[in-house]
Amino acid sequence: MRKKIVAGNWKMNTTLEEGRRLIEAIVDQEKPEDVTLIVAPPYTHLSMVNNVIDGQEGILLSSQDCYLKESGAYTGAVAPAMIRSTGATYTILGHSERRSYFQEDNATVFQKMRAAFSEGLKVILCIGEKLDQREVGDHFKVVQNQLEETICKFSAKEGKDVILAYEPVWAIGTGKTATADQANEMHGFIREVIAQNFDNQFAEQIPVLYGGSCKPGNAKELFSQSNVDGGLIGGASLKAEDFLAIAGSF
Ligand code: PGA
Repeated sequence: MRKKIVAGNWKMNTTLEEGRRLIEAIVDQEKPEDVTLIVAPPYTHLSMVNNVIDGQEGILLSSQDCYLKESGAYTGAVAPAMIRSTGATYTILGHSERRSYFQEDNATVFQKMRAAFSEGLKVILCIGEKLDQREVGDHFKVVQNQLEETICKFSAKEGKDVILAYEPVWAIGTGKTATADQANEMHGFIREVIAQNFDNQFAEQIPVLYGGSCKPGNAKELFSQSNVDGGLIGGASLKAEDFLAIAGSF
């Protein structure tokens, strides 16, 4: 049995005070027992959120990115060790918004993963095709390449600290969701690529989340698919009741 995981990516939203209200509302509600929640607030909120979570079981803290160097003269950048020191145990990497607005390619994502692992930071690795790539039938090739140039370059020992998130770019923040069949088909393909590069057991164990306009109204259908282990939630993670409703959708 794979872990069920629902992660909330707050993106560049909430002031410190708004973020505090959001995490307090999440912590106050009853959580589904067998689901791990992960919250990914902005860097500025990590310590505050960690204090509110206060080691509660079943809720983990993640950053939304990290830099690829250990420390030094990199104005504005945040290193994995700094993130770890806030109490966070995960970082999201390879999000499509990082890839498109900050020109991050697979090589950068790989370097960031290496930096994260070296500080004991686990990784939520985002992969997914753009609309034009799906339209010409390149979606499997694109996702395979994203996997082979990042996670597949690590050993199984390092790779076991990865949660994969399939996020078709055309579904992120657009209100368009992949159908449950499209998601399950791609998640199955992702597991095949992972099996080829690691082994079957590894591929059976790695969690693969779906992301892209996942909401309380569609989460149940998506999460009922055999290869979908939960979701990476953007917009709907900014309301505690929606986030918890999604987590209760298995
Ligand atoms: P969305 O974002 O749920 O707002 O579509 C998902 C994500 O980008 O992780």
